[in-house]
Amino acid sequence: MEFKQREVRELLSVTPEDVETNSELTYAKNVFIPLTTACKYTCTYCTYFDPPGKASLLSPTEVKEVVKKGIKLGCTEALFTFGDDPDDRYVEIYRKLNEWGHESIHTYLEEMCEMCLEEGILPHSNPGDQTREQMEKVARVNASMGVMLETVAEVKAHAGIRKKNPEQRLNTLRIAGELKVPFTTGILVGIGETEEDRAKSLLAIREMNERYGHIQEVIIQPVVENIRWRGGTPSLDSMRRVVSMARYCLPPEVSVQVPPNLASIRNFLDCGIDDLGGISPVTIDHINPDYAWPALQELDSIATDMGVSLKERLPIYDRFVKEEGWISSEIKQAIEARNVSGERYRRILAGV
Ligand code: SF4
Repeated sequence: MEFKQREVRELLSVTPEDVETNSELTYAKNVFIPLTTACKYTCTYCTYFDPPGKASLLSPTEVKEVVKKGIKLGCTEALFTFGDDPDDRYVEIYRKLNEWGHESIHTYLEEMCEMCLEEGILPHSNPGDQTREQMEKVARVNASMGVMLETVAEVKAHAGIRKKNPEQRLNTLRIAGELKVPFTTGILVGIGETEEDRAKSLLAIREMNERYGHIQEVIIQPVVENIRWRGGTPSLDSMRRVVSMARYCLPPEVSVQVPPNLASIRNFLDCGIDDLGGISPVTIDHINPDYAWPALQELDSIATDMGVSLKERLPIYDRFVKEEGWISSEIKQAIEARNVSGERYRRILAGV
């Protein structure tokens, strides 16, 4: 991807003084469903993936159990996370999928999303990189989808024989745009990229959004220490700068999010964040299991102290529900349903 040096320089000069505090901060109430921990990659900062022989695949019964708990506690989002397409080494994963009548993890995801809609919760899936065919299969049963771009730079942290590369990630973002899928993406800060790489990654996301208008939020996620990553976490100053860069560079309708279990939101409200992502009363953050969600009450009181109001949202942002052409008939039906879940979705959309 080509970048205009003038735009990169302009972004690199942005500081928190160049952006404003937002009056509103949103979040979605979710359940986190790690459908499989099999992944063909081995990123050095990631504790999510398990090697062949150790990887898990949640059964339909296990998924349903989590979903039901979430619905009971008022969750509206079923967040499905994956490793990237498990490769041929994960024989036992494929054996199980076959036993359950599936050739691929994508047809299984499709079935699980259908179950979620029947139960009364909206799926938001992050199945890593996807081909057009794979995304077409699951998009109709997802309110929105996502994948982290992480960075446009080649970094050592994307290690191993099979490494993920930025072009593939950008291609997934492109396919989502072409298919009109409301999409979440973001950058991972501190994995060996430079400040200039961060600026370029944000510009790449902006360009995708200018082309397709499908980006609903951009996550600015600091890498954090865990049993596989001892490379440190970005300083508060560099995080404040990159969050401000994101707010400055993206249009106002694209939300900027910092995950509240990985960084204190108190430090970022004046850098223009306006979203906290999914917060779960039921499940842990399976990507960062050592970092617990703060209580909603605590987040509410921090926001109120700083004159910001905290508001619940759906996994699909309001504007994509209201504008023509962004939701499938399945998702429309779920939102318009005359049942308890439909009423809950509509109440949140109406802001009451
Ligand atoms: S970060 Fe994602 S792609 Fe990399 S190893 Fe973990 S699950 Fe796989």
